[in-house]
Amino acid sequence: MTKEDAEMFDFIQGQKVISKKPHPCGNSEWTVSRVGADIKLTCAACGRTVMMPRSKVEKFVKKAAE
Ligand SMILES: [Zn+2]
Repeated sequence: MTKEDAEMFDFIQGQKVISKKPHPCGNSEWTVSRVGADIKLTCAACGRTVMMPRSKVEKFVKKAAE
């Protein structure tokens, strides 16, 4: 309910993340390419991008990649 609760991750542009479910191309690694009201992720393998609200990204992402 609070702002803090909604922000499990602090997404940073250029950060690499691992998704829970792989992209249809088989890759699970994404680069955060834009951070705003919506967050844009670029697939590291095929280069396709997806935009989704932060709340959805938090469910989509499993962890930050090193
Ligand atoms: Zn892909």
